[in-house]
Amino acid sequence: MKTTTTTIQQEERSLKATGRLSSHPFICCTGCGKKVTAFGQNLKGKIQRAGGLVELLERFKCRGCLLPGFVVKEHKIKKQKTKKRQNRIQELMNNIPKITFTKREPLSLYDNPDLTAEITATGCFRPDIFLDSGKTCDYCPLYNLCKAPNRKLSSAGWQVELKTA
Ligand SMILES: [Zn+2]
Repeated sequence: MKTTTTTIQQEERSLKATGRLSSHPFICCTGCGKKVTAFGQNLKGKIQRAGGLVELLERFKCRGCLLPGFVVKEHKIKKQKTKKRQNRIQELMNNIPKITFTKREPLSLYDNPDLTAEITATGCFRPDIFLDSGKTCDYCPLYNLCKAPNRKLSSAGWQVELKTA
């Protein structure tokens, strides 16, 4: 934005009438032309710090122009931190004892009649099957080993064959 007397007068009018710059919601950097957010309290603060609207419009510079290398520097620090963090994470990872998961065979009730008898002695171990089968053991694979008091087949007497591992 070229700050000629005309544009400054225009901006003064715009600001008075609407509280906004004509370039709302931005103000343009006099150095590089970059648009920087400036409206409301933020704009008021900028005008105050600059010492007036005219001064602001004539001299406003974005951070990149005010502090050459500012953005780059910030970026570098961030990168370094990230690198440090990554190294730290790697270090921690290396110190974690390696856990190897050995495949554990699931305990099969079918192969353990004694265990099945024990855990079914006090009641049905698969009430889900029992209820789904109309309160019978028709579809229960544990039927042959089960000692539950409510153990029964339907009149159809269908029963799943005992699974063998
Ligand atoms: Zn700039």
